[in-house]
Amino acid sequence: MHDGASTQAFAPPLLGEPYLLTPGPLTTSAEVKQAMLRDWGSWDADFRAMTVELRRGLLALTGDRRGDYDCVPMQGSGSFCVEAMLGSFVPKDGKVLVLANGAYGLRAAETMRYIGRPYTLIDKGDYLPPRGEEVAAALDADPGITHVLAIHCETSSGILNPVAEIAAVVESKGRKLLIDSMSAFGAIRLDVNEIAFEAMVSSANKCIEGVPGFGFVIARKDALKAAEGNSHSLSLDVHAQWATMEKTGQWRYTPPTHVVAAFLQALRMHTAEGGVAGRGARYIRNRDVMVAGMRELGFETLLSDTWLSPIIVTFFCPADPNFVFSRFYEQMKQKGFIIYPGKLTVVESFRVGCIGRMDEHVMRKVVEAARQSLAEMKVASAAPPADAIAERAKLAA
Ligand SMILES: *Cc1c(COP(=O)(O)O)cnc(C)c1O
Repeated sequence: MHDGASTQAFAPPLLGEPYLLTPGPLTTSAEVKQAMLRDWGSWDADFRAMTVELRRGLLALTGDRRGDYDCVPMQGSGSFCVEAMLGSFVPKDGKVLVLANGAYGLRAAETMRYIGRPYTLIDKGDYLPPRGEEVAAALDADPGITHVLAIHCETSSGILNPVAEIAAVVESKGRKLLIDSMSAFGAIRLDVNEIAFEAMVSSANKCIEGVPGFGFVIARKDALKAAEGNSHSLSLDVHAQWATMEKTGQWRYTPPTHVVAAFLQALRMHTAEGGVAGRGARYIRNRDVMVAGMRELGFETLLSDTWLSPIIVTFFCPADPNFVFSRFYEQMKQKGFIIYPGKLTVVESFRVGCIGRMDEHVMRKVVEAARQSLAEMKVASAAPPADAIAERAKLAA
């Protein structure tokens, strides 16, 4: 990990609002907020042109030079898009192998249960990564499995799952890969020339740094064609949304016009920053500066550096009895930073996001705020309890 000096210094959020060190909604730029200050007619040629720009801009991030893929935006939050993808690309007689290591993988399995399609689950618990060999074994054991669903960055622990390894196995076994790249897309490479996927989803309010209101599916055109008639849901039918957009340039039902306008501004700023590589580099610096500073204070990360994503980082709560998470949260908020509770079932933890309109200068202030908050709570040491360390040892085993 490095701690490169940067000259980039972002304006602080408007109106003294706190920084959101969360995985979305996140801190957006003033320009993105300003782009929402006008109304658009959803049927008008100006807005249809915006939809075209949005779809092209997102496709350009995938490295699809042959024109094999298309992008279909869908109204709603990210979970609506996951449900739309599962219901549209998995035929009624298909079967999904869901790879879970946290809340979002389990939510995908729950979605399969709701839509009443067969699935099977590999559940690795709170944070252990699903590996290629076990996916291969599961696919060999059950020829009925048609699709595999992988979570790119599992935001509940912050682990960056080995999707390239998984994709290679899925392809070699002749099955199709669906990816929830919600919290990774736009900052971590997901290139169609390197990772063969049938479809992936992400949303407006994660690494592209837009505001919440829609998600998008990027899928093979042949899969979009084949999806006709599969969906369990009228409003979540990706094929129908795609077919209508291709024919009329319009979204099927009311689009979140202001959110789209904001997103186009966010996409322009993403390009200006150097696209996926530039955005990813800033988030990596954010993580490296923040993690190094927190470790100096005595905090320890759940994950070893190998698995640490530049999206969000889980820290163990200190063992010191003076440490109370709800108080720490309030102290951090008073200093201008909203942090995020942890999602581990076994030990107490909290999370700090690295994404959004902020840079390493902000991350240094986050660390300083954490140092002051510990002092105010009279926490002598931020070291985690022994059972947290024992839990983490499982990852190395
Ligand atoms: C944010 C996120 C989602 C979607 O969550 P919503 O609250 O519905 O936007 C899905 N999967 C992952 C990995 C996420 O980070």
